[in-house]
Amino acid sequence: MSMARRSARLQVKEAVNTSNSPQNVTATQSLEHGEQDDEEQEERPRKRAKRISAESSGKKAKKKGIASKQLRRVRGKLGLLERLAKDAPMEVILEVFCHLEPRDLLRLARTSRELRNLLMSKTLENIWRAARQNVEDLPPCPHDLSEPQYAFLIYEPICHLCDRRVESVLWSFRMRCCQDCASDLSKFPQYDEEFFARLPQEFRSYDILPRDLILTSERWSWTGHNEITARYKAEYETLQTTEERKTWLNRKEKESQQSRNHRFLCAQWMCRRDIERARELDKLRQQRKEDILTRLNDIGWREEAEIIMKSQRLITWRKDSFAQHKSVNQPRKLTEYGWNIIKDELVTMLSNHKEKRLQTEI
Ligand SMILES: [Zn+2]
Repeated sequence: MSMARRSARLQVKEAVNTSNSPQNVTATQSLEHGEQDDEEQEERPRKRAKRISAESSGKKAKKKGIASKQLRRVRGKLGLLERLAKDAPMEVILEVFCHLEPRDLLRLARTSRELRNLLMSKTLENIWRAARQNVEDLPPCPHDLSEPQYAFLIYEPICHLCDRRVESVLWSFRMRCCQDCASDLSKFPQYDEEFFARLPQEFRSYDILPRDLILTSERWSWTGHNEITARYKAEYETLQTTEERKTWLNRKEKESQQSRNHRFLCAQWMCRRDIERARELDKLRQQRKEDILTRLNDIGWREEAEIIMKSQRLITWRKDSFAQHKSVNQPRKLTEYGWNIIKDELVTMLSNHKEKRLQTEI
């Protein structure tokens, strides 16, 4: 990971943590994406944005003027925004933001410090809300998270404690946590029986404490988060009368139920999204293979590739050494440039296969 990328992530984490302080969030948020395609496409624009940003630092202007300048510096994979940033008024650009999705806004927030500050400001919360509503069936933002924080939680598959990639979300704790961090009590504040025994008696009879299913190095288990629970306990102990405490417990119980319902909806949504994404990737792989076969046909090597596929598929269902070759089995479009890089390697592989096949046949 380059220092520039690391630095950008830390800056956004700071922005999120200082601009909004949700009730339960203790985790850090990251803007790193795991998808290689995205990284390739964004690498150059990000560097350019950083340079432009550095050149212009120190200038003072009125708030609206600053915002306009910030947007005019936007470069990136969203070509429309690049053009807009040059000419369109602020109102138009913000209107365009409303038609994006939260994931796009997260990418934009990475392009420059100015744009990140703008997007993380509370005044743009409605832009994030509109962007979220553009995503089909995405459950609403829970009351204890800001819209950007919700977007981070959903779209950034990174452990909030160490930055490793992790797919699952601990919805009750508003964080992602990898298996190693979950197994390390100095990192993840999982509570034990002793901690639980010190809680007010009422906490046990009312179902109010956030819990989640977590995978440690040993097993899956339901656990609580002692920092969140300690906060609940402190809040509870400031209440003076029995009536106040009962009202608080009822409210927390209701919130807990809502949180569980929301957790279920989010898990469902993510599952559907993952299936859809897997289908898209599979389609891209299939298309790439077809494009490569067409190219091989032009240079007289398609037949050998088809021989491999037909002969090996009989033995291993849908897995043959041609389709599984690292240059073929990729979820990305084949370009002229890409073809020229992989061509010789594939021809060598096919040529070796043909040679061995003919020797066997003799
Ligand atoms: Zn971790």
